[in-house]
Amino acid sequence: MSFYVTTPIFYVNAQPHLGHAYTTIIADTISRFKILSGEKVRFQTGTDEHGDKIAEAASKAGETPQEYVDRISDLFREAWPPLSIRPDRFIRTTDPAHIRTVQEILQKVHAQGDIYFSEYSGLYCKGCERFLTEKELVDGNCPDHLTPPSPITEQNYFFRMSKYQTWLIDHIQANPDFITPERYRNEVLSFLKEPLEDLCISRPTSRLTWGIPLPFDDKFVTYVWFDALINYLTGLGYPDGADFAEFWSGAEHVIAKDILKPHAIYWPTILRSLGLPPFRRLHVHGYWNINDTKMSKSLGNVVRPAELVEKFGADATRYFLLREMTFGLDSSFSYEALLTRQNTDLANDLGNLFSRSLTMVNNFCAGRVPQPGEPETADSEMRAAALAMLVEYREQMENFAFSRALQAVWKVIGLANKYIVTNAPWELAKLPEKQERLATVLYTLLETLRLITLTMHPIMPETAGKMSGSLGLSGNGDLRSQGEWGLITPGSAINLGPPLFPRLDHKKPNQPAPPPTAKKEKKTTRTQDKPGSAAAPDQGLISFEQFQQLDLRVAEIVAAEKVAKSDRLLKLTVKAPGERTIVAGIAEHYQPEDLVGRQVIIVANLKPAKLMGITSQGMVLAAKEGDRLVVTGLSGPVTPGSKVA
Ligand SMILES: [Zn+2]
Repeated sequence: MSFYVTTPIFYVNAQPHLGHAYTTIIADTISRFKILSGEKVRFQTGTDEHGDKIAEAASKAGETPQEYVDRISDLFREAWPPLSIRPDRFIRTTDPAHIRTVQEILQKVHAQGDIYFSEYSGLYCKGCERFLTEKELVDGNCPDHLTPPSPITEQNYFFRMSKYQTWLIDHIQANPDFITPERYRNEVLSFLKEPLEDLCISRPTSRLTWGIPLPFDDKFVTYVWFDALINYLTGLGYPDGADFAEFWSGAEHVIAKDILKPHAIYWPTILRSLGLPPFRRLHVHGYWNINDTKMSKSLGNVVRPAELVEKFGADATRYFLLREMTFGLDSSFSYEALLTRQNTDLANDLGNLFSRSLTMVNNFCAGRVPQPGEPETADSEMRAAALAMLVEYREQMENFAFSRALQAVWKVIGLANKYIVTNAPWELAKLPEKQERLATVLYTLLETLRLITLTMHPIMPETAGKMSGSLGLSGNGDLRSQGEWGLITPGSAINLGPPLFPRLDHKKPNQPAPPPTAKKEKKTTRTQDKPGSAAAPDQGLISFEQFQQLDLRVAEIVAAEKVAKSDRLLKLTVKAPGERTIVAGIAEHYQPEDLVGRQVIIVANLKPAKLMGITSQGMVLAAKEGDRLVVTGLSGPVTPGSKVA
């Protein structure tokens, strides 16, 4: 199967923003998904560079139209690689090859009688660069630009779009997937209930010169939509190119809902007039609002792709946009929401699962994939869930239901994290008779991770590459040959890498913050109770930077007393160097008077917590041996407050 996916060519009257990035990430994701599924793919994006608004913007910027479009087009071209978007072709409507193709097509459509010359009076909206019908106006204004259109009478060339109305209705009705999601299909069908007018396809050169001249009348240039839509053919080398022969039948366009009509009505009728089959599917998505407000230049809330990459990187940005928006509906963007997804879905759920599992293989199996034994029920259930995830993922991805595809993957990530807790490999590791069981559990985890990795190639390419590398897999993944259970080879080496995702601070999203369960060695435990901290031991490794964020200090205990109504807690007053109160759970191990004068090591930058009504400002480190706790000490006296590193 051959697949051809396009974004619209973006109009260079504005710089790339979140909406452009979303459309292009969708196209890139689906392109990578098709490659993962074994299909041959062409993926095209580009820029639309003709028309009134461009000529106007260029003159405002003090540039020639060509200088202006060269500059803005580059901004689009350069916006995509940092988001791991890799189109096969970046097309521009000022490319000589495109100009030639447009003129050939105009000639052809004209020669067969589908273009005629006529006078036209209508209401023209300069913002839209088209004539509006009375019905489209809201209180006399263009609904998009909120300004009244100007009455204009001029002679122009027209495309006989009305001739293809019945054919178009029949085609949409016979092909339920032609326009998706369904709401947009219904919108188009409802619009087509009214008689379709012919399409004005020229502008007189007296009014506009920045366009492609009509081949049969040089007093006119081509109307931007007729010019722009044809890019989808130019990119494949229409009419004689090998790519055109191979890929046109698999053409699918991705657009935002504001350009539904040109794509769902103008474009298929132009193709029909040319004698070409229409594209296969048109996928229409909604708008991103910013904190529930419309994104607009005047509100100053425009989100730029470069900012997202700088703050979150390509993968977290891609994941967020794909996960957060239900394709077809509007969605709300906020940095806060992106940060939350980064910290919970990515760092916590996926990142932790990955590093815990690999650390255990590293520690318990000498870094090699273990040979599994007979599966128990829990293992078979994990395996069945992982395989069902692949089926669900493929189906949802095919239907552009990216959010649902990701929900299916994250459900299995959640199950795998539970599987670890339930089967407690670190307990099995202690018992010689449980070594085969340990091997089976870890193998099941590695296989689950391998299948999860497979699904991540289209979504987070860089992360999928890291995950593959750590699992000792090569290549970019293939759903057909690798979508089965049991393909990771026992005995092969895994490579423990750094954490997949940094945890980001809510105040400064571009700086990593300390993980909540950072420095904790096996034999050292916290001696302070902290509500809700009864998590399973964290098997992940931390970086030196993360370690450095712990403020460990020498503290001298100057006073100690029992906490009323508690058998476990002691209230300590320590000097480090300033005095502070620390509540420690060591009352069963130490008498208060035994502690005064001792020097211990504390975590000085732990968030204060209230215990039995007393605010504790830090934590005393202690060693744990069975039920016994021994507080840390130093081999010689040290000035209180000295840093421990
Ligand atoms: Zn308008």
